[in-house]
Amino acid sequence: MEALYLEDSYLQTFEATVEEASGKYVVLDRTAFYPRSGGQPNDLGTLVRDKEEFSVVYVGVFDEKINHEVKTQGLEAGDIVVGTLDWGRRYIFMRSHTACHILSAVIYGETGAKITGNQIGETRSRVDFSLQDFDRQKLAGYVERVNQIIEEDRPVRTGVLSPEEALEVPELIRLAKEVPDRDEIRIVEIEGVDLQACGGTHVKRTGEIGRVKMLKAQNKGKANRRIYFGLVDGD
Ligand SMILES: [Zn+2]
Repeated sequence: MEALYLEDSYLQTFEATVEEASGKYVVLDRTAFYPRSGGQPNDLGTLVRDKEEFSVVYVGVFDEKINHEVKTQGLEAGDIVVGTLDWGRRYIFMRSHTACHILSAVIYGETGAKITGNQIGETRSRVDFSLQDFDRQKLAGYVERVNQIIEEDRPVRTGVLSPEEALEVPELIRLAKEVPDRDEIRIVEIEGVDLQACGGTHVKRTGEIGRVKMLKAQNKGKANRRIYFGLVDGD
C-alpha cells in the first residue's frame, strides 16, 4: 500500500485497485487519502468505480493499513477505482499544519517551552505548550511572528532519513534514540525555521498559508497553555 500523499501532497485524484473490501472498509494498493493521525484530520472525498460513486466518510489506519470507510458497500477486491479528495478541506489542513509547525518553532525559540500537542481543524487549529508565564500579548506577538515567516515565503521540504542519518541532526537526535528500530524517519523542514519528524501533508512554501490570526489563548492550569489560531481568507 503506497501512501501517495507522502510523495506529493498536492495530488487530488488518483487511480487505484481495491486490495481488500470488508463491509464499508476498503484498502487500496495506493492512496492519496490522508488517514487521521498526528493531529491532522483525515481526508474526505469519493471513490468511483465506472460511474458508481462511493463517498469516503472516514480514513484511518487499522492493522497498519490505510482503511477508507465508504458510505455504501459494494466495492470488491480487484475493482479499479478513481479516488478524488475533497481538496478544499485538505488544502486548509496543509496550510494549517505548516502554520502549526511555524508557531511551535516560534514559541519554542522565544520561550524554550515544550510543545505538548497540536490539533488541526477546518475552522481553527491549536498548539499546546508547557510554560509558566501566561501573557496574552506576548502570545499574540508570537502569532504575528508567524505571519512574518509566512510573508518571507520560505520553502518547505519533506524527506526521509535513516535512523543513523537522524542521529546526525541535532533536532532529531532524541527521536532517533527513542525509536531506533524504525527503518526511516520522515522529516519536514521549513527553511531556516523548523525541522521535525512529521508524517503530515504540508504546503511547498510558507506564503501559501496566507495569514493567520490568534483566536483564543487559554490558561489550562499550572503550566499548560493553549493557543487557537485560524487562517485569514479573503482579505
Ligand atoms: Zn506535523
